Amino acid sequence: MCVAVKANAYGHGAVECAKIALECGADFLAIAAISEGIELREAGIQAPLLLLSLCQPEEMDDLVENDITPFVFDADYADLVAAAVKKAERKNYPVHLAIDTGMGRIGCYPEDAANLARHIISTGCLELGGMCTHFAVSDSPAEEDDAYTARQFARFTEAIENVKAAGINPGICHCCNSAATLEKPEYHLDMVRPGIIVYGYYPDGKPRTYYEEKKISVDLKPVMALMTKVLSIRPIKKGMSVSYGHTWTAKEDTMTGVLPIGYADGLFRRLAPHLQVAVKGKAYPVRGRICMDQCMIDTGNDPVERWSDAVLFGPEESGAVLTAQELADATGTISYEITSTITKRVPRVFVNQ
Ligand SMILES: *Cc1c(COP(=O)(O)O)cnc(C)c1O
Repeated sequence: MCVAVKANAYGHGAVECAKIALECGADFLAIAAISEGIELREAGIQAPLLLLSLCQPEEMDDLVENDITPFVFDADYADLVAAAVKKAERKNYPVHLAIDTGMGRIGCYPEDAANLARHIISTGCLELGGMCTHFAVSDSPAEEDDAYTARQFARFTEAIENVKAAGINPGICHCCNSAATLEKPEYHLDMVRPGIIVYGYYPDGKPRTYYEEKKISVDLKPVMALMTKVLSIRPIKKGMSVSYGHTWTAKEDTMTGVLPIGYADGLFRRLAPHLQVAVKGKAYPVRGRICMDQCMIDTGNDPVERWSDAVLFGPEESGAVLTAQELADATGTISYEITSTITKRVPRVFVNQ
């Protein structure tokens, strides 16, 4: 099991989530930037780290110093990694050979896999620790997309066979993201790389009902709740407007709650029309534009108390009226984008449940 903790663990806090993933039995952690690897190493995490993306030549020394396992798929890049490994006087440094089977992002083509595997070994200091590919549409319920994933898997197997035929051990073979992990046990091979399901969201395009219909038992609950407090309750008189651009004007006297959270925290302006902020279980709409650091909710005539908790999204237990998935659906994006863009300024508080 390789758990994706890239992008600050999809916004949840990389170090804490990495520790929990390892406690739960993860063998590998996946990151996308060298800085993310350094953060985990500095926190004392010793598990193997897979770099899902590429790094730059200037970062190669940090890659090796921090024992990060890169994806390699061309000779130039393999040589850069090898040079850094030699400089550090290291040997048998594992790299994973990435195969592009239809994602069109990174990887070599299956027919080039054996040559590249040979090249990796010929450096004398690198070893082929594994082979991987990434699915482009495994989260789509459409039949033709299922067939596309099957073709990707077939091409991946072909690449593995080519490497084996060259007399090279392909190492740990892995291809499954969350959607494929849930649904395609026959594609699991030696390791799976789930991300979004670990954080409690169903793959985009395959909600809970999809798995119920398929009789696949999965019960996911969002991990993150985005919470703040009502810092001020202010009367707004009929005819007064709220926030930049006065896009909202009070039709009658009302009260607003001021929340210290805005787009610089990851609460995008485009969320405003869809947000329903929960205070003591009741939903209140955001009025006017979300500012950089603040936004306002309309609390009407309700006796909302200053310093009350206000929940922007989260699982039901958090008191939220919306989940990140619902906000994503309403704004034409995916849960990944809602959670991973919550910025570092927002404190992550971890509670055991
Ligand atoms: C992000 C990522 C994953 C995890 O994807 P999910 O859809 O979150 O499960 C797996 N593999 C690679 C290469 C990735 O970039």
